[in-house]
This record gives sequence, C-alpha cells and structure tokens, in this order.
Amino acid sequence: MQTVEEKIAKLLFKDNKLTIAEIEKKYPKRKLKPGQEVTRFAPSPTGYMHLGNFFQAYISYTVARMSGGVFYLRNEDTDQKRKVENAMEIIFSIMKQYDITPNEYEVKGFETKGAYAPYIQSERTEIYKAYAKKLVAEGKAFPCFCKKTEGLEDVEKKREKKFSVRDNTEKDPCRNLTYEQIEANVKAGKPYSIRLKSKGNGDGRVEFEDVLKGKIEMEENAKDVVLLKSDGLPTYHFAHAVDDTLMGTTLVVRGEEWLPSVPVHIEIFNDLGFDRIKYLHNPLICKKEGNLKRKLSKRKDKEMDMRYYASAGYPKETICEYMMFLINSGFEPWRLKNPTLSYLDYKFEPLNITATSPVFDIDKFNDISKEIIGRMSADEFFEAYRNWAKENDKQLYDFINKKPEYVKAFINIERDKPQPRKDIFNFSMIHNYYNYMFGAPDKYEIDDAERRKFEEVLRAYKKYIDLSDKTAWFDKIKEMASALGYAVDNKAYKQNPEAYKGNVAKVCEYIRIAVTGRRISPDLYSIMTLLGEDKVRERISLIV
Ligand code: GLU
Repeated sequence: MQTVEEKIAKLLFKDNKLTIAEIEKKYPKRKLKPGQEVTRFAPSPTGYMHLGNFFQAYISYTVARMSGGVFYLRNEDTDQKRKVENAMEIIFSIMKQYDITPNEYEVKGFETKGAYAPYIQSERTEIYKAYAKKLVAEGKAFPCFCKKTEGLEDVEKKREKKFSVRDNTEKDPCRNLTYEQIEANVKAGKPYSIRLKSKGNGDGRVEFEDVLKGKIEMEENAKDVVLLKSDGLPTYHFAHAVDDTLMGTTLVVRGEEWLPSVPVHIEIFNDLGFDRIKYLHNPLICKKEGNLKRKLSKRKDKEMDMRYYASAGYPKETICEYMMFLINSGFEPWRLKNPTLSYLDYKFEPLNITATSPVFDIDKFNDISKEIIGRMSADEFFEAYRNWAKENDKQLYDFINKKPEYVKAFINIERDKPQPRKDIFNFSMIHNYYNYMFGAPDKYEIDDAERRKFEEVLRAYKKYIDLSDKTAWFDKIKEMASALGYAVDNKAYKQNPEAYKGNVAKVCEYIRIAVTGRRISPDLYSIMTLLGEDKVRERISLIV
C-alpha cells in the first residue's frame, strides 16, 4: 500500500530520472587503504580566491597528500545569483600555480579527471532530486509553497528562521498540508521548495567529534531547513550530505564558520541513512592590530587577495611554506633543524593542526621569503625573476632579455657563497633595491656637511680608477686616500683620528654613494665591474 507521503513524493518528483539504486551503482564506495584520507576543496564561485580559501585548500590538500589519499575539487555553484564568470577557472589556475592540483576535478578549459563526476553541483540536480524524493516519501521532508515576499533577497533564509522552532509548527502553513492541498498547489503552478521535517524540539543534544576541537556537544537541530530551493538547486546543507557521501569524502575540512550548522547536517545524514563523516573545522586567519586580533578581511587587507602575492612577486614556495608555518607549530623548529629540505618533506598529522586562529605576520612572511630566495641558485632566482617580469612588467622583461647575463650577475652578487646575502623577499622590490644597476641614481645619501669632502674624493678618484682586479682596485683607492690625508691603517686612525680626514672606509663610502646613491650596498667592486669603467666615470662626472 502506498502511503500518503509516497504519493506526495511521486507527485512532486514525477519527472525525476534517477533512482537511488542507479546513483549508488554509479558512485561506488572508494577502495581505500587504511589511513588514506579523501578530502576536498569546495569553493563557491562567487569571487576570487582569497588567502582564507587557500589556507583551507592547502590543509585539505596536505592531509590527503600525507595519507596517500585523494584530494578533489568541487564547484559549489548553487547560488546562481552570486556566481562570478570564470571564478572557478581562476581558482583552479591558482591551485595549479601553487602545485596543489587536485587529483579529481572538472573545470572548463582544463582536462576533467575523476570517476565521481560531475564535480559541479548545478549539474547534479537529478541526484539531489532523487534523495529529496526519498525523504519526502519517508515523511522526513515536505514541500513548502510559501510565497517569496516581494523585494526580499534571501527569502529561503527568512523562512528557515520563522519556522525554526517546533512551537511554531502550527504557524507553519506547509508542514502538514494534505495530499489534496499539495496537488492543488502543484496544479496551480505554485513554486515550492523542499524543507526538512525536523524531529528536533529544541531540547535534545547532539554530540560529534571534530578532529581539531575534539568532542563537541550542541543543541540538536530543530529547524525545518530548506533542502531544495524553488529553483531546483540544493542548499549547502543538503548538497554537503549528498555529495560528500557519494564522492567518498572521509574528512571534511571547512572553515569554522560552519561549526554551528553541524546539528543540521547530522539530522540530514541520519534521515538519509548516511554514515557520518569526520569534520575538521579550520580556524580562520587573523591579523594583529595593536593588541587586538581580528579576522583578515577581504575588503581591508591586501594580504587576503591571492593576486597580491603574484603581482608583488613572492615565490610560490613562500606562500606554501608560510601556510605550513600557520598550520602547524611544529613546522618552525623542524625548519630550523632542516634548513635545506623542502617544506614538502615536513610530516604532520591532521590532529596536530593549529586549533587556534593563526596570525598572519607580514614580517615573518617576508623573512621566510628571504630565506627561500636566499636558497635559490643563481639560475633559479633569475628564471623566477624573469617569469615574474613577463607577467608583471613588460619593460623590465625586455631589459632582462636584452642583458640576461648582466641581470643574472647583479642579482647574484654576494649570493654565490655559503652564507648568501638574504635581502630580497619579492621580485617587485628588485628594481627599486638595485635601481643603480638600471640607471644612474636619482638621489645621493650625502649630508650637506660632508658634501665638500665627498666632491674632493670624487674629483681625485677620476685619476685612480682601476677595475682590472680587486687588489689593484683597492690599492689605488688606498693610494688616493693617503694622498688626500685619509688613514689607510685603521689602527693608526683609531689611535689618532684627529690627524686624518677620515679612514679609507670613508673614501669607499663616498665612491659607493657616487655609484649607487647609497651608503650601503652589496659588494662595491662587483657593482663597479658590472657597470664598467665608462659608466663609473659617467656617474662621477654627474657629481663633479
Ligand atoms: N561552498 C562552501 C563555502 O565556500 C564550502 C564549505 C565546505 O567546504 O564544505 O563555504
């Protein structure tokens, strides 16, 4: 005998093409070895990728990689109004750029991979319908014909609130409609959503385990949440239960803003007869402002936008290594002990992921970047710099291609040694940092009080320039220093500074300022030889 609920389900889903049995056959359980985790990154294509998304994707990816499991990408495009064109393509390109390529995905313009497709929620509507039909047939869900109120953007949410507590049942006009009423509404062409018929009454508790936060107890769900919206697309809650189950997710890594929704998810999982899935609610990245800690904001913080790192020219390793640093406090001591290993060699358990909100610290981030750039070979550094210029600075890119050896040589000054110079943390700073290698300085770090001595040294130096080798170069500088009344022997100078105009280091500083504009620079002789004698003379002539 057919129950009323079964009759209602048939009426509502008469065009439904798939049965649960067919779906289960199409998506068999994954064959996993013990310990292997299946994780996913499931962004909504409603904007560009930000650091918060990346952090979460990075955790998911790392957990799967370390367990030898599967990491897949799912496009949660059920909010058609907020969908941004190409957002998913951009997200996928960024993931690839940072080598966190999913094992399974489906993205326009890229090859599709994986046996659990479609990985795009708007293409899975028949699947959701089949499960919604089952719930209606079992009396666990019902159609809701409440009219959308004119001008309200998010009506479904408002409905959820209004009918949220069991006491309000009598006020809910749709919860207990008869078959005849439903049929009349359907015939009249009234749009409807499918809502959960929650069994909660607000008194019960639910318990679950979060991998990071441990055992959590919460009030059970009592809301008749929307499962399928009137446009036929699922809500996040319903799609999460159906997709993560069918796609064989073993660990749901998602932002901790989803934690309050777990009781809703537990009820839906139970109603569908699904096994529960482990959760890892990741903390959100914060920023320090004075003594206060606040969440990184998409609107206020440039560090939140992944495009910032690409345009500023941070190597991809910096971002990935910094993610590791934020994810797990064991990473920094490991890095100190293993300065030359790749961050990919670092191993940790999901359990050890930092449970408190990590703080994004730009100085720390830059220090990590200096180390990473410092560890690059001259060729790696040069190639990474050239690639960055190609995307970000056409003029510079042309300059690099015209004089590759020259550029390689100056960015490599004082790098090719056991304790390399570590002063560059991104590629966009190179032009400014080494501006004297691209053209004459536009200002000189010299005080008015020293101007006369500075010019005297430069006037004299024109006769002493010798770049043939480092010893000859320095011997000539010493000879000139002596002739001008500067000390060449530092000990003698220290004992009796009054007897001299200064020491030979001062003379070198003046030459350095003339050539580079600065009091401090990498090795002066290397800079001068790279520029060549003509350019050095030209620069001195600009001053005296
Ligand atoms: N589409 C959801 C979001 O962007 C995914 C949450 C999850 O990972 O389950 O917040």
